Amino acid sequence: MNGGTTSAGHFCRRGVKLFVVESSFAVRIAEVYASIQGEGQFAGTPSVFVRTTGCNLRCWFCDTPFTSWKPEGPHVSVADLVRQVREFDINHVVLTGGEPLLQPDCVPLCEQLLTVGHFVTIETAGTVFRPAAASLMSISPKLANSSPARTGDADAARWHARHEQSRSQPEVIAKLIAAGEYQLKFVVDQPSDLAEIATYLSDWPQVPGDRVWLMPQARSREELQSRSDWLESEAVRLGYRFSSRWQIAQFGNQRGK
Ligand code: SF4
Repeated sequence: MNGGTTSAGHFCRRGVKLFVVESSFAVRIAEVYASIQGEGQFAGTPSVFVRTTGCNLRCWFCDTPFTSWKPEGPHVSVADLVRQVREFDINHVVLTGGEPLLQPDCVPLCEQLLTVGHFVTIETAGTVFRPAAASLMSISPKLANSSPARTGDADAARWHARHEQSRSQPEVIAKLIAAGEYQLKFVVDQPSDLAEIATYLSDWPQVPGDRVWLMPQARSREELQSRSDWLESEAVRLGYRFSSRWQIAQFGNQRGK
């Protein structure tokens, strides 16, 4: 990890306020690409995805195993990441993973992107807190249905206890919710998951139903369709929002789409 310690300053060029970033700031990155936000309240919005690599969880259904089970990718300087993002000429930026908040230099990265005018969404599982500023904190708490024990292989068995110890961090969720705009997204695999979500949310009475999004667990179009069929009506019945997963519907979970 490459966290710098010096604070940064501002200067102006062509009327745009820029942030001078400490050159040692860097984030380990799996990919940077432009696509359409597929989930939650900004579904359908053209966005640049900055996908960090590395995760403290090992969900069995992880749709980006190249950031978790087999993390890959180089460290890229914050200055270079901002340059790459700006080349797309797209306002919305989604900092995702993996778990982006594991990496300290996501804080200056977000600061810089916001300073030059981007709308920044951070996608997090809500297990690690950093004071990273965002336009929207998109929190996806992981339920018991995420346990890697379900896959039954040796790697999963090793990760099971670690995953279970890490996946629920209410004090982190409290700080993330208090920090500003947020949404909560739950991955639903089976109808029985809905009772766990209700129990979970009973600890957060301040969270209104329209900030809660239920999404089908899906890594293929077939899974997406079969779970959407019942989950959409259940979300409406329970007073939550339903979110499809546009990227799976369109591309069947191809990388970089
Ligand atoms: S938290 Fe997200 S990135 Fe990490 S293992 Fe689970 S689904 Fe994958």
